Amino acid sequence: MEAHKCSFCRDTIEPGTGIMFVKKDGHVLYFCSSKCEKNLIKLGRTPRKVRWVIKKKRD
Ligand SMILES: [Zn+2]
Repeated sequence: MEAHKCSFCRDTIEPGTGIMFVKKDGHVLYFCSSKCEKNLIKLGRTPRKVRWVIKKKRD
C-alpha cells in the first residue's frame, strides 16, 4: 500500500492506518483520523479555516 495524505489536515497517513472515504462522484478521500473525517464530511469545514489544522502545520 502506498502512503496517502490526509485530505483534511494534509498529514501523511501511514500505510494500513487511516480512513478511506469514497464520495458519490467517485472521488476518493483519505483521512488520518475520524476527527478529520468528521470535520470534512459532517461539518463541511475548510482546512484553512480550522484552527487546529493551522496550528499543526506550524509545530
Ligand atoms: Zn487528518
